[in-house]
Amino acid sequence: MTARVLIVDDIEVNLKLLETRLSAEYFVVQTALSGAEALKICENGEIDIVLLDVMMPNMDGFEVCRRLKSNPRTHHIPVIMVTALDQPSDRIAGLEAGADDFLTKPFDVVQLMARVKSLVRLKALTDELRARATTKQQIDMEEADRVMDSITIDGAKILVVDTDLRHAQKISDVLIANYEVDILSNPLDIVTQMADNPYELVIMSMAMEGYDPLRISSQLRTLEQGKNVPIVLIANEEDRPKIIRALELGVNDYILRPVEQNELIARVRTQLRRFRYAKELRDSVSNTMQLAIIDELTGLYNRRYFDRHLELLLKKASQQQRKMAVMMLDIDYFKNVNDKYGHDVGDKILVEFANRIQRNIRGADLPCRYGGEEFVVLMPDIDKTNAQIVGERVRFAVEKSLFDAGNGLKIPITVSIGISLNQIEDNPHSLLKRADMALYRAKNEGRNRVHFAAA
Ligand code: GH3
Ligand code: MG
Ligand code: MG
Repeated sequence: MTARVLIVDDIEVNLKLLETRLSAEYFVVQTALSGAEALKICENGEIDIVLLDVMMPNMDGFEVCRRLKSNPRTHHIPVIMVTALDQPSDRIAGLEAGADDFLTKPFDVVQLMARVKSLVRLKALTDELRARATTKQQIDMEEADRVMDSITIDGAKILVVDTDLRHAQKISDVLIANYEVDILSNPLDIVTQMADNPYELVIMSMAMEGYDPLRISSQLRTLEQGKNVPIVLIANEEDRPKIIRALELGVNDYILRPVEQNELIARVRTQLRRFRYAKELRDSVSNTMQLAIIDELTGLYNRRYFDRHLELLLKKASQQQRKMAVMMLDIDYFKNVNDKYGHDVGDKILVEFANRIQRNIRGADLPCRYGGEEFVVLMPDIDKTNAQIVGERVRFAVEKSLFDAGNGLKIPITVSIGISLNQIEDNPHSLLKRADMALYRAKNEGRNRVHFAAA
C-alpha cells in the first residue's frame, strides 16, 4: 500500500532521515521546512498523511495541526505528531490540537511503519467514503464530510484480553469514560466471547502466561466476528521480534509498556474510526438506496418513491377491486411562518408536522413529502368513512396543540386536507388530481378542514 507522506521539520537532517526510511518502503515523500509551507502543500496537494514535528520556530506543530484540522479542505488528513522527548504534556496538547497519533524521536522503524501504515489505511477508507458519498448520492464534498462526521465512535464495544486482571483493569479505567469495555481473563474463551458480543476492538496483552497472543490473534482472524475486528497488542520491549511477526499476521497496532494514557486513547480512536468507516462503506450501498427514497428533512418517503408506489398500489387495487385513498395535505399560511420566524423555524415545523402525520395514520399507510409544505398519504384498503376518520384525526392532531419550534417558541399551525378515493377508470394522475382539487376546495372554504373529492 503506497501513499503520499508529507514530512514537516525545520531541521533538514531530520527530514532526510525520515525521507530515506519512508522512500525505502515505497512511500511517496514530500517535505516542508516550516508550518506555513506544510499548510500550503496540504491545501493544494494530494497528501495522505502528515508527519509533523512539534518544535518549530514561528508556527509550532500544534498550531499547524490545529489549522489543518479546522480547514474543511484538509481536516480529513491524518496527522502524526513527532515529539522530541516522551513528554505526556506534549501528547495532551497534540490530542487537543486534533492529532491522530504520536511518534517519539529517535525513531524506531517498526513503530514508524506500523503507525504510518495504520493511518494510511484509515485515510484510504476516508477517501473512498468521500468519493462514494459524492458520486453515488450526487452530493457535494461538504455534505459528504457532514455524513462522515456523523460517524462517531462513542460507545464502541472493546474487549481487553489479559490474564493479569490488574493490568486489564488499568486499561479499562482509561477507556471506560467513552466506550463499553469488557475484560476477558481466559484467552481460551475468546471464541464464545466474540460470538456473543459485537466487539469493535480487541486489546490483547503479549505477556500472558501460558498463552501465545499471536496464536490467539490468528484464531480470532478465522472467526466470522473476528476477521475484521482491529487488534492492538500491549507489548514489552523484549517482544519486539514477535511484534513484527504479529503485524504481518494482521494485528493492527501495538503499544509498548508502560502504557501511556494518551497514546492508548489516540490509538484506540484511530482503530475504532477505521473500523466504523469500513463498516459504513460496506453499508453504504443500502444507505444510498435509503437516501434515494427518503426525504432528508422529515424522514418521510420522497416524491420519487411516492410516484412509483402510487402506480403500483393503484394497479393492484384495480386488479383486486379494492378501495384505496389519496390524502393530500397542505399547511395553511405556511409562508407567514417563514416570513415571521425564518426558514429554519419553518423547517422545524415541517419536521414536527411530518411526525404528527405519522402518528395519526395506519401502519399500512404511506406518508410522503410531496414537495415544500405539501404532503401526501397513500391509504390502501380503506373506504370513504375510514378515510374521513383518518383525515379528520390528522387535521385535529395538527390543530390541537401548538408546534414547538425550540427556544420557548410555540406556533399555532393548521392544515387543509383533500381526499380522493379510487375509481375504476382512474390512473395515478387522475386520482391525484381529484385529491388536489378537494384540497383546493378545503382551502377556499376557509382552511383547517378536510374535503372529500366528488366521485
Ligand atoms: P396556503 O397554503 O394556506 O394557501 O398558504 P401558504 O402560505 O402555505 O401557501 P404557499 O404555497 O403560497 O406558500 C408555501 C410556502 O412554503 C412557501 C415557502 O416559503 C414555504 N416552503 C416550501 N418549502 C419549504 C421548506 O422546505 N422549508 C421551509 N421552511 N419553507 C418551505
Ligand atoms: Mg400552504
Ligand atoms: Mg403550498
